[in-house]
Amino acid sequence: MRKTIAAGNWKMNLDFDEGRQLFHALTKLGHDDKATEVILAPPAPYLSLLGYTNTSSVHFAAQNCHHEDAGAYTGEWSARMLASLNIKHCIVGHSERRAQYGETNKQIAQKTQQCYAHGIRPILCCGETLAEREAGDHFNIVTEQINAVLKTIEAKQIRTLIIAYEPVWAIGTGVTASAAQAQEMHSFIRKSIASSYDRELAEQVHILYGGSVKPDNAKELFSLPDVDGGLVGGASLDYESFKGIIEAAI
Ligand code: PEP
Repeated sequence: MRKTIAAGNWKMNLDFDEGRQLFHALTKLGHDDKATEVILAPPAPYLSLLGYTNTSSVHFAAQNCHHEDAGAYTGEWSARMLASLNIKHCIVGHSERRAQYGETNKQIAQKTQQCYAHGIRPILCCGETLAEREAGDHFNIVTEQINAVLKTIEAKQIRTLIIAYEPVWAIGTGVTASAAQAQEMHSFIRKSIASSYDRELAEQVHILYGGSVKPDNAKELFSLPDVDGGLVGGASLDYESFKGIIEAAI
């Protein structure tokens, strides 16, 4: 039985006090961590400062890590460094990183390997642009993005992979994929993993939906058979709206 995950990606938003208040308020919700996992991805400078401990009911993710272990990469941080802060999750391949920083599938695969090398569970983002969907290429694009990573990691690592399907046209736009579109892609991803590996392994992979998730659409999305929760941007910045999304995940 897969847990439902409500993951909030703050991106480059909230000052430190705003972030701290939001984090502490969310830890008081008292959700059952065994059934629902709440993850926050604050800006990197806050990761060691927000008072996070591994016993907290709210877990932390980094929004990114470098594809190398260490070196002369000014302004970057590695999975090894995240592990030294006890961070257990890391988003890799967010569409904003792909589009704004030119991250390639190869680098994203290397980042994923770095995460596994340091005991960090990757949240691998994938998703097509509007033009790619309109051209009927969405299944090919997502397959390419996921397979570039899967072929570089071991089957036992895939069991703990979190995939976030985030159609680019739905991110920050207020346009959400319909329940049918989300289920169609999530089921496609799970079936592809089952056919490359096996059904039992595919059933363990978490597949989150991302793209304008809000309290009023979260329940419908999270109740779909292959949607295991959400990766949430804008709506994770406000206590009431992220609380509503966490409640939809319970
Ligand atoms: C995201 O950037 O991962 C995201 C899903 O953003 P939003 O919820 O704002 O669409």
